[in-house]
Amino acid sequence: PHIAMKEARLSAVSPLRRRDSKGVNISNFDPNCIIYDSTTDTTYLRGKLLGKGGFARCYEILDLNSNKVYAGKIISKHRISRPHQRQKIMREVELQRNLKHTNVVEFHSFFEDDENVYIVLENCSRKSLVYMLKHRKTLTEPEVRYYMGQLVEGVKYIHHHDIIHRDLKLGNMLLNDNMDVKIADFGLATRVEFEGEKKMTVCGTPNYIAPEVLQKRGHSFPADIWALGCVMYALLVGHPPFETATLKETYIRITENRYSIPNWISPQARNLMTKCLTNEPELRPTLDEILSDEFFSVGHYPNRLSPSCCMNPPRFE
Ligand code: ADP
Repeated sequence: PHIAMKEARLSAVSPLRRRDSKGVNISNFDPNCIIYDSTTDTTYLRGKLLGKGGFARCYEILDLNSNKVYAGKIISKHRISRPHQRQKIMREVELQRNLKHTNVVEFHSFFEDDENVYIVLENCSRKSLVYMLKHRKTLTEPEVRYYMGQLVEGVKYIHHHDIIHRDLKLGNMLLNDNMDVKIADFGLATRVEFEGEKKMTVCGTPNYIAPEVLQKRGHSFPADIWALGCVMYALLVGHPPFETATLKETYIRITENRYSIPNWISPQARNLMTKCLTNEPELRPTLDEILSDEFFSVGHYPNRLSPSCCMNPPRFE
């Protein structure tokens, strides 16, 4: 019966309606690649590949009921055959499910069929800050104010919901059509269960790992502040602060807090990064302190950026 239903739906996609009123170009979606969510009776068509992660392949998918385009994270059941792998995905879903904020990738639904599990998310068509930096090498300070301002708002919301993200990095910061930044990938995130709780381990390897996480001293929300400092550094300087040829050397540098900021960076940016990259987690700034930092008030702070900024430096009037 499901097949019949799907076919009825598909025949409704007349070739005359290739571009519908929402500007969705239906010819970008393969009518032979059908994904069916039996829990909500929703049919999706699969479109172009957006990216690959550790477990998932992420595609643009078109909901034929609403004509909306989402990002579908598709995870083959073969790849998550061990119970702990599946638990990890369920935890990611559970943590992200109820979050709703402009700067956090919105969760839409979760279901499975015989072959895959599917996580349906808000579509961020302009990819991650990694792609932007690949083209641009470094960003201007006004742009960094724009991105950091939005990221801090997203992290504030996440922390307010007792969640530590634990893997804030350029690849997990996505851009939508409108150039809004959205925090993605709750695969290493955790919920703080009681005030003052310290987490001892992370199940996985965070990219911008804070020293207290590395040394298993017990960590909490300030680990995300450290990562934001690394993100800000990477956007301005073009590579992360502790990057070396080997993970071992990088970890030694993190432990010794050994990094340098090039002299062409403004004193305000230097000062804010230094505060975020403090070895002692309790001494790092709070998110509100970051937002009221001088870095944001000295110099231009755009409230919108043009999509052309993905490829070329902006010229501010
Ligand atoms: P994994 O959990 O397996 O590591 P990710 O969450 O990192 O998978 O997703 C893999 C890739 O898919 C990302 O690097 C990104 O390029 C892309 N992607 C993930 N979520 C979205 C989204 N909501 N919109 C657009 N692209 C996305």
